[in-house]
Amino acid sequence: MKNTLIDLDDVYFSYEQTAVLENIDLTVKEGEFWALIGPNGSGKSTLINIILGLLKPDSGSVLLFGQDADHFQHRELIGYVSQKSNSFNSGFPATVLEVVRSGLTRKTGLFKSFSKKDDKKAIHALKVVGMEDYAKQNIGELSGGQQQRVFIARALVGDPKLLVMDEPTVGIDQQNVKSFYSMLNKLNREHRIAILLVTHEIDLVTDLATHVACLNRSIHFHGMQADFKKMEDEDISKWYGHPVRRVHQHIEETQS
Ligand code: ADP
Ligand code: MG
Repeated sequence: MKNTLIDLDDVYFSYEQTAVLENIDLTVKEGEFWALIGPNGSGKSTLINIILGLLKPDSGSVLLFGQDADHFQHRELIGYVSQKSNSFNSGFPATVLEVVRSGLTRKTGLFKSFSKKDDKKAIHALKVVGMEDYAKQNIGELSGGQQQRVFIARALVGDPKLLVMDEPTVGIDQQNVKSFYSMLNKLNREHRIAILLVTHEIDLVTDLATHVACLNRSIHFHGMQADFKKMEDEDISKWYGHPVRRVHQHIEETQS
């Protein structure tokens, strides 16, 4: 039986008086690739913050790897890439290797020096995302798409079982978005890392994800990708609040 990594049950959340999330049930299991989609302001980032333990729900339960989120001891099992992490300017004084290695600070302590073993782990993570040739370069010299791969490597360096990303392709041009998604596909299928991806790119993602959750304050659909594909565009448009028309897009299987 597959382990359950995230289990939300009847979660409610509000900022001050504004209800943002209602009656949220979401279950993510080992090896699954979830696309969490929804219009702007639908509560996606709030939900991610609850999953990461940065916000506490008003009610409902949040289990991570079977443990209550409040007492969850194994943050290293969850790699996180935040929105807009790929925006370092060219003057930022860190190499790609240093950025990736900094993903290990939770284990080694912020002020301890890094070992050769840490460097090896960082190089390995860079290989996984196809960026090992850039290890010595300054992070700011890379394109947005390349920086984002480096941030994925940073999230992977601690060997997580789950990767959580909030709109990671914002600011990446269309051609690179496709190769970014094929890299995620490879991570999920070959490295068996579960993925929870927040995105508004419905077309690109529904070809890759194994499961889809549609959020607009509450969950309007939650299930297998094939069932999401069978839904009518009109039905999706209704909860999305504006017309949605899906076009089939093919993502190359592996390319990185
Ligand atoms: P999404 O990521 O889907 O765009 P968010 O979770 O960021 O949505 O926001 C959901 C709603 O909560 C929006 O109406 C937003 O304005 C509001 N909101 C987000 N963050 C805060 C905050 N810190 N304080 C008050 N309201 C917030
Ligand atoms: Mg957001």
